[in-house]
Amino acid sequence: MRKLTIDLNAVAENLTAMRKIVNNASVKTMGVVKANAYGHGMVQVARKLEAEGIDYLGVADLAEAEELRSAGITSRILAWIHDPADDFVSAVKHEIDLAVSSRDQLLRIEKAAIAVGKSAQIHIKVDTGLGRNGVTIDELDDLLKATKAAVASGSVATVGIFSHLSSTGAKEDLVQIERFELALKQAKDLGLTFELRHLTASDGTLSYPQAHYDMVRLGCALYGLSPFSDNRAKEFGLKPVMCAEGTVVQTKRVAAGEGVSYGYLYSTARETTLALIPIGYAEGIPRNATGKAEVCINDKRYPILSRIAMDQFVVDVGDASVSPGDRVVIFGDCGPTADDLATAAETINYEIVTRIGGRFVREFIGAVEA
Ligand SMILES: *Cc1c(COP(=O)(O)O)cnc(C)c1O
Repeated sequence: MRKLTIDLNAVAENLTAMRKIVNNASVKTMGVVKANAYGHGMVQVARKLEAEGIDYLGVADLAEAEELRSAGITSRILAWIHDPADDFVSAVKHEIDLAVSSRDQLLRIEKAAIAVGKSAQIHIKVDTGLGRNGVTIDELDDLLKATKAAVASGSVATVGIFSHLSSTGAKEDLVQIERFELALKQAKDLGLTFELRHLTASDGTLSYPQAHYDMVRLGCALYGLSPFSDNRAKEFGLKPVMCAEGTVVQTKRVAAGEGVSYGYLYSTARETTLALIPIGYAEGIPRNATGKAEVCINDKRYPILSRIAMDQFVVDVGDASVSPGDRVVIFGDCGPTADDLATAAETINYEIVTRIGGRFVREFIGAVEA
């Protein structure tokens, strides 16, 4: 009665569409599968991407990277947010590439590499203006020099150098691209070489072809979502991957003037049919989408006018013939898009898909066997 259909074939098609847009076979692609692949199912998405010849997988943290390795994923993996207490020993053993944002991280990674007896694969993360992780431009020289010493000792190999855009606007992004160029020059002048310089996520990849460097890091685009949160995914040839659906579990005929759900935000204007759908904010349907979100039942759209509750919501279907067992699309194929629900909840499509969960059960189309 609650189902997320995940079309992995659409992930493969979106990868192909983005490779076409990048239009340069020497630019590698990282598939970003952090946060359970934006709610789509990390291991299944990773297996599909691996079967499609993805060059890299990207995750936020080591727990995610380790989960991929445990599931038998052998692709190169980069993780970029580290616990200050992490000793990196297991990460080095499992050949997980590590972003390095500080001297302290580099020291701990060197120690781990020596303990394991294997050089650690690192990517220097530069904060060119997002103000999140990454070494500041001021401390970059210091980190690069320490890295050079670590390379000389054999404890680390400098695979990459990267940064991340703020997506504030072209003016701000171009300043970051310029700073990234300066960082690359600084590293080069010190004699450090990197196989992979990478900067853009989905938005930058679409907006700045001059900044693809050696690899692009794609998250939302692979899931068929526009990074611009403007329902433009189709324009880029992207196809939604997730369809959130449920079934009507009860219908009832009620008189005019009946209050519906908590707080009586809605009361019936005339005799009508109410349909109950067993999906609520526990499943990640934002409560503040009440009054604005729509669902699709039997190819017809209905607004959710009464309060979305933890486990359920009710729609007034008038005199339409709707019965228990009928399919309800919250977003996906016949219904609204994740962007529509995001707009209704005053958020972005990323937040909608990543927070979907609760009692939804995922069903995969086009899954690759382990
Ligand atoms: C999440 C993330 C991405 C992917 O971003 P999308 O906008 O979903 O393409 C790329 N790089 C980094 C560093 C990220 O944190």
